[in-house]
Amino acid sequence: MDHPFDCLIIGAGMAGAVCARELAERGGKKVLVLERRAHVGGNAYDCFDQAGVLIHKYGPHIFHTNHKRVFEFLSRFTTWLDYQHQVVANIPAEGGRLEIPVPFNLVSMELAFGREKAASLARRLIAEYGRETKVTILELRQNPDPEIAALADYVYEHVFVYYTMKQWGQKPEEIDPNTTARVPVFLSEDSRYFQDVFQGMPLEGYTPMFQRMLDHPYITLELATDAASRVKLEGEQVLLDGAPFRGTVIYTGAVDELFGCKYGRLPYRTLDFQFETHPVDCWQSHGTVNYTMDQDYTRITEFKQLTGQKLPGVTTIMKEYSRAYTGAEGETPYYPIISPENNALYSRYQGETERLPNFHLLGRLAEYKYYNMDAIAARALALCDDLLK
Ligand code: FAD
Ligand code: UDP
Repeated sequence: MDHPFDCLIIGAGMAGAVCARELAERGGKKVLVLERRAHVGGNAYDCFDQAGVLIHKYGPHIFHTNHKRVFEFLSRFTTWLDYQHQVVANIPAEGGRLEIPVPFNLVSMELAFGREKAASLARRLIAEYGRETKVTILELRQNPDPEIAALADYVYEHVFVYYTMKQWGQKPEEIDPNTTARVPVFLSEDSRYFQDVFQGMPLEGYTPMFQRMLDHPYITLELATDAASRVKLEGEQVLLDGAPFRGTVIYTGAVDELFGCKYGRLPYRTLDFQFETHPVDCWQSHGTVNYTMDQDYTRITEFKQLTGQKLPGVTTIMKEYSRAYTGAEGETPYYPIISPENNALYSRYQGETERLPNFHLLGRLAEYKYYNMDAIAARALALCDDLLK
């Protein structure tokens, strides 16, 4: 049997959708996309809940990038709401609670220590590292200056240690340093969570953006279709519906699942999301509030503040609880747990795919990397450049 497709893409998240569009449109390829879930968008999927609030089903997603090409590519499928994400840490303080900007910055310092002490600390820090610089918490903790060391301890205790224990089950110094480096101490008064040139939210939501991206006469999309039911690996062959598929295959799912987890499961953290709808206009001070010193959940996100949706008298929030992924039915692997040991296990699976011709692993799961959406889109565009050379 000859397949009517040039390319087979498994997964309709950012990785799969960008590749599908590029290969179909720029390459004139006939593309089949298989998606296990009943919808497109991967973890960036959004939808309206029963109260009519636009929610992110798999965790809050804010788009930000310095890649002009990625921004221009996605802008073909959506207009943007100008949204600059701000996060605060909600911590116990004398006589109540205090909210300080995260990443911890000069504003946080003043709120935590008062104007005078913060000014003196800021002078020292800026003399040491320079204004508008970002210093990771692990780096700051190495500083021998006792005043800076005391500040580093404060930030470690009030922002990082408990949150990281909840999120990863490990201390900040035990996890991949690139993870805590995502949220550095910022010697600035800029309280935005990201400093990227392009930031925003798709005006009508992520799902319509993905739907438009996948809407092309050369793209066939099959939802609610697990690739495991249609695709088999046999020696050096990929079989689609029992017959050899000789075109390009892009796999964006978890790589261990491809091989029945025969070397053991790749470790991930998963999340349990608790959605709550409340009869108020607004629930909290910022789009996301991190609970860095108490509570079992890591953070609360109020969607209306992210999406700019105007809906008086009702709001939906989400609490995130992190735990180890077990692979049980209905669980989603969200965060790869980067470590030398886990990377070595990943390499064994990745090595197995090398014998398969025209077979590419792409995406957060398939590459076992902690990528943001824009990084995945950039990698997808680059892979298509290579494939269409
Ligand atoms: P996914 O989105 O996971 O898509 C993979 C798709 O493949 C899924 O739809 C899955 O169902 C499908 N699939 C898997 N296996 C199979 C199979 N066997 N058959 C068929 N289909 C299959 N990034 C940002 O830039 N900004 C943010 O604010 C942000 N917030 C995040 C918050 C959370 C809680 C999490 C977990 C991630 C966040 N990210 C954020 C990262 C973002 O989710 C990823 O970068 C992005 O989703 C990666 O896209 P992907 O296509 O690689 O993977
Ligand atoms: N982090 C922390 N406290 C915070 C925010 C982040 O300890 O208030 C640490 C934590 O280890 C987290 C990592 O920094 O996993 C990366 O945070 P980010 O907000 O980028 O995580 P994501 O949004 O990807 O879940």
